[in-house]
Amino acid sequence: MSHLPHRPPPWVAYLLLGGAVALACLLTTGTVHDALLALVSCSSAAAIAVGVRVHRPVQPRAWWAMAAGMACWGAGDVLYVLVYDVGGSQAYPAPPDVTYLLAYPLLGFSLLALARKARPGRDVEGVIDATILSVGAGLLSWVFLLEPALRSMSDDLLGGTVSALYPVADVFVLAMLVRLTSAAGARSPSFALLCAAAVAMLAADAAYQVAYAAVGYDGTAVDPVWLAGYLLWGACALHPSMRRLSDPVPAHSGSELGGGRLVLLAGASLLAPATLALQLLLQQHPSSWAVATSSAVLFLLVVARMWTLLRRLRVQAEQLRALARTDPLTGLLNRRSGDAALQRAAAGCARSGSDLVVVLVDLDHFKAYNDTHGHPAGDRLLVGAAHAWGEVLDGAGAHLARWGGEEFLLVLPGPDRAAVEALLGRMRRVVPDGRTFSAGAARWAGPAQDLPALLAAADAALYAAKAGGRDRTCWAPEAPAAPGAPTPALPSLPALPARGERRPVHPVPRG
Ligand code: GH3
Ligand code: MG
Ligand code: MG
Repeated sequence: MSHLPHRPPPWVAYLLLGGAVALACLLTTGTVHDALLALVSCSSAAAIAVGVRVHRPVQPRAWWAMAAGMACWGAGDVLYVLVYDVGGSQAYPAPPDVTYLLAYPLLGFSLLALARKARPGRDVEGVIDATILSVGAGLLSWVFLLEPALRSMSDDLLGGTVSALYPVADVFVLAMLVRLTSAAGARSPSFALLCAAAVAMLAADAAYQVAYAAVGYDGTAVDPVWLAGYLLWGACALHPSMRRLSDPVPAHSGSELGGGRLVLLAGASLLAPATLALQLLLQQHPSSWAVATSSAVLFLLVVARMWTLLRRLRVQAEQLRALARTDPLTGLLNRRSGDAALQRAAAGCARSGSDLVVVLVDLDHFKAYNDTHGHPAGDRLLVGAAHAWGEVLDGAGAHLARWGGEEFLLVLPGPDRAAVEALLGRMRRVVPDGRTFSAGAARWAGPAQDLPALLAAADAALYAAKAGGRDRTCWAPEAPAAPGAPTPALPSLPALPARGERRPVHPVPRG
């Protein structure tokens, strides 16, 4: 048995090898240090390109944009070596700033493209969340980076403008990152590496800019974070799960307000008062307008987010109501809503004084049909009958419910006996597969007769129709009406009487 040495997967190998170069970079200074840094950032672009070629992701253009973004970054680092280390220039801004600034939109759009692939269509919640975080980060950026940069513009217009562009670009990439985290449901290793890479890049960028604005660049403090960002970015594209990174997610997940996201959004919303407090503590001149504006915008965004939640709740409540109302097989009203429909119809007829007829319809020899053709065919017969009857009853003001297995309740407000017979005749003609049904009909005697008694009368009539040979309608004897009796409150209906409790009535032959 041969013992092959265990080879780490390419993304681990890249992290190990790149980590070694990064360590060498951190242990050196000057040109060598800067050159090793450029080597790592260029390797990141190459790793992304290799990842795209090897893993063939569903959204190659997004990944190519990412590779191009990192290539711009690498080019910036190379130009940095050439301009500052080799050329000995002291200028700012300089050519590296052009390629650095080009990298942000490329990286931001690659994140956006991945997010849009993961959640095609409108993602209002994701956009609002991304905007809330961006406004919070934008305020910090404004107060601590942009305002100082703009102030320095009066001395150095170009330098001030370029310094102001970096924090704006950071906020853009941050917004796209949040957009992606809310869209991508698949929490794959590649996704985690990508998030870590982007966060490292943004953190390094912010730290660099704050350090640069306050005390001039302190490379040793920030470079490990840059290096980690480059390596993570390359590793995320080399990990095989990068293919699944923008898999479409089910519509109900992703933008849902989980605990973590709620904390993040709350934190972002609190940035405005926190910034003001920090400025007061530092005895700085407070950025009152920026704080006031961002507070108002954040508040409105939170309200908009609440509105999306309310809308989602309403849709879900309606879906639940529909589910609770319908019989899943036939799509008819289920027994509970059949009950409710009967109660409402009875209340209406009691008010208007019109007639109400209930009919229990039961397919004949359905068990035998099941036994012969199989249960699925029995299901199809139930569905077919329900659809056909629905068409017959369309416009008749009737309510049809599935009362039990192959038994249906028909509530007919208004018609006389002949009209009911005619309707049932039409229903008989459309039962699929030439099957027949028996029906027990009962006319409501008005508020003096309670509805369970009415249903029991219809059930007894159905029993009689079965006993009389099936494929017919039997009418229950008319219950004595109590003219002028007050309309009683309708009781909630108990379950139908069990089979054994059925009262036999005299069968009435069809026709
Ligand atoms: P009768 O003419 O006296 O009504 O005879 P029947 O066979 O129709 O009545 P019975 O009550 O003996 O049998 C009803 C059958 O309906 C038994 C049960 O397996 C079947 N059934 C109930 N619900 C469903 C269903 O959802 N799908 C199918 N395929 N069969 C069902
Ligand atoms: Mg039956
Ligand atoms: Mg039955």
